[in-house]
Amino acid sequence: MANNETQFNNVEKLQNDLNEYKTRVSMLERANKELEQRVKGSDAAEPAPITELEETLRRLVTRIAAILQAEKCVFMLYNKDDDVLSAAKPALGFTDEEIKKFKIPATQGLSGQVYKQNKSIILYDAASDERAMKDIAAMLNIHNGASVPLIAEKRDEENRVIDRTTIGVLHVFNKRYGNIFIEEDLNLLERLAKNASAIIQNAKIFREVVEEKEELEQIIESVYSGLLMVNNQGKIMQMNTTARKMLSVDTTDVVGKQYYDIIENSAIKDIIVRSITDHEEVTEEVDMMLYNEEERTYQTQTALVKDNDGEAIGTVAIFNDITEIRNIERMKTAFVSTVSHELRTPLTSIKGFISTLLADTEGYYDADTQREFYQIIDTECDRLTRLISDLLNVSRIEAGRALDLNLREVTLPPLIDKVMSVQKSYTNIHTLITDVEDDLPIITADEDKVDQILTNLVSNAIKYSPNGGNVTLTCKKKDDGVIFSVADQGMGISEEHLPKVFERFHRVDNRDTRKVGGTGIGLYLVKHLVEAHGGTIWVESVVGKGSSFIFTLPPKPPVEEEEEETA
Ligand code: ADP
Repeated sequence: MANNETQFNNVEKLQNDLNEYKTRVSMLERANKELEQRVKGSDAAEPAPITELEETLRRLVTRIAAILQAEKCVFMLYNKDDDVLSAAKPALGFTDEEIKKFKIPATQGLSGQVYKQNKSIILYDAASDERAMKDIAAMLNIHNGASVPLIAEKRDEENRVIDRTTIGVLHVFNKRYGNIFIEEDLNLLERLAKNASAIIQNAKIFREVVEEKEELEQIIESVYSGLLMVNNQGKIMQMNTTARKMLSVDTTDVVGKQYYDIIENSAIKDIIVRSITDHEEVTEEVDMMLYNEEERTYQTQTALVKDNDGEAIGTVAIFNDITEIRNIERMKTAFVSTVSHELRTPLTSIKGFISTLLADTEGYYDADTQREFYQIIDTECDRLTRLISDLLNVSRIEAGRALDLNLREVTLPPLIDKVMSVQKSYTNIHTLITDVEDDLPIITADEDKVDQILTNLVSNAIKYSPNGGNVTLTCKKKDDGVIFSVADQGMGISEEHLPKVFERFHRVDNRDTRKVGGTGIGLYLVKHLVEAHGGTIWVESVVGKGSSFIFTLPPKPPVEEEEEETA
C-alpha cells in the first residue's frame, strides 16, 4: 500500500514537473520568436550589442540545467575554420578557465561523436568511459551526463524544414541528488536543444548582420569619395564624412532626415530629384564652395538602388574630387599655347634677320651690323634649342625616366662667372652681384646641368624683377658640399603660390607675370636637376620685396642602388 502511494506520489510529482517543463519550454519558444522577429525586422530593431549571444547563452544554460536538474550545462559550438568544437562562454558549473580549455577536434571524444553522428548519448559513468575521458578529462568532477546535438533548422515560408545544420553539442552533467540521466531526460534535452539551436543560430546571424553592417558603414565612412544614399521618399540613408564635408553639412545626425533640409547646394539637390523622381542615372560636374571658401570640382555620379524585383527604391550618389585633374588639364592647355608662343618668338626674329640679310643684295649693311644680326640669330637659336631640350626633359621625367647625369669634377667659381656674364648681357637695368666664398670644394656633378640650374634661376630673377634691382648669386660651403642662393628684389611670389612654383606648367597668373614670357616648366626641371644630384631646393619670398631660391648640392650625387649592386 505504502509502495503504491509512493508510486502515485512519484507519478504526481512527475506530472507536475512535466507541466513546469512545458511552461519553461514555451517560454523558450517565445524568446526564440522574439529574437527571430528582431532579426527579420532589423530596420526597426536597435543594433544588438555583440554580447547578445553571451546573454542568450547565460539564460539558456541556467534554464536547461534547472529543467534537467543538472549541476553543469555547457554548449559546445562548432567552428568550421579550425574544425573544432569549443565550449561557449558562459557555461554553468565551469570556470572561465575551464571553458577556455574545453576545446576539441570535431571528430574526437564524446562531443565529437554526438556532433558527427548527430546522435544523443547518455553518459552513465564518466570515469569508465573512454570517449568522455578524451574531451572532458580536463574537467573536474564529472560523474554522468547527457549530450545532444544542436541542430539548427531553416524553414521556408510554409514552415517546412528546408535545411538542417548541426551547429554544436549541448551537454548537461551531474544529475542532482546522485541520480543519473535517463532516456526521458534525453528526449527533453533534445527538445530544449532544438529551441536553443534556433536561438543561438538567430543570435549568431544577428551578430553577423550587425558586424557586416558595421563593417560596411566603416568602409563607406572611410572611402575617399563622398557618398550619399537617399531613398525614394527623400530620406537620407547614408552620408559619409567626405560627403558631409564637401556639402558643408556640420552635423553627423543626418540619417533619416530629408535631403533637402540638410543639403543646400542647388545643383546637387537637382541631381537627386532627377534620380529619385525620374529614375535617371546622372553624371555631372559640380563646382562647390567648401567651408574654407575653397572652390572644388566634383564629378557627381548617381546610380539607382534597386530591390529584388528590380524596382528603384532610392539612389546613391558618389562625389569624386577632380579639381586637380581639371587644373592640370587647364594648365596643359595654357601650356600648349604658351609653348607655341615661346617657340614662335625666336623663330620670328630668326626669320626676320635672315630675310633682311638675304634681301640686302646691295650691301647696305656693313660687316659689323651683319655680325650683330648673326649674333642675334645665334642667341635665338640657342633659346630655341634650350626650350626644346627642356620640353624633352619634361617628357623624360613624365615617362618616369631619370635624368642622365654626365658626372665629372666641377670647379664652381668659373662656372658661376660664366653664367653671370651671359645673363648680364641680357639686361641693363639689373645689377648682378656674385658672392662666392673662398675655398669652395670641388664637387662631382654634371656641369651642363648645374649651368642650366643657375641660368634658369638667374634669368627668372631678372625676368620677374621688371623694375631692375640687384640679382645676387651666393655660393658657400655647406657640410662637404655647397649651398647656393639666387636672390632678387623683384615682384615676389604670394604665399598661396609658393608651394606650387616647382610644379610643372605652374605659372603665377597676374597682371605683372602675364607681361613676362614663360612656359612654367623651368622651375619644375630645376627641382628635378637639383634632386638628381642629391640636393634640395626651396624658395623664400615676399610679394613686392623679392624672392630667394636656395639649393644645396652634395660633394657628389648619391650612388643609385642598381649601380651599387653591380659595383
Ligand atoms: P616660367 O617659364 O613661367 O618662368 P618657371 O617654372 O621658371 O616658369 O617659373 C614658374 C613660375 O614661378 C613663374 O611663372 C613665376 O610666376 C614664378 N617665379 C619663378 N621665379 C620667380 C622669381 N624670381 N620671382 C617671382 N616669381 C617667380
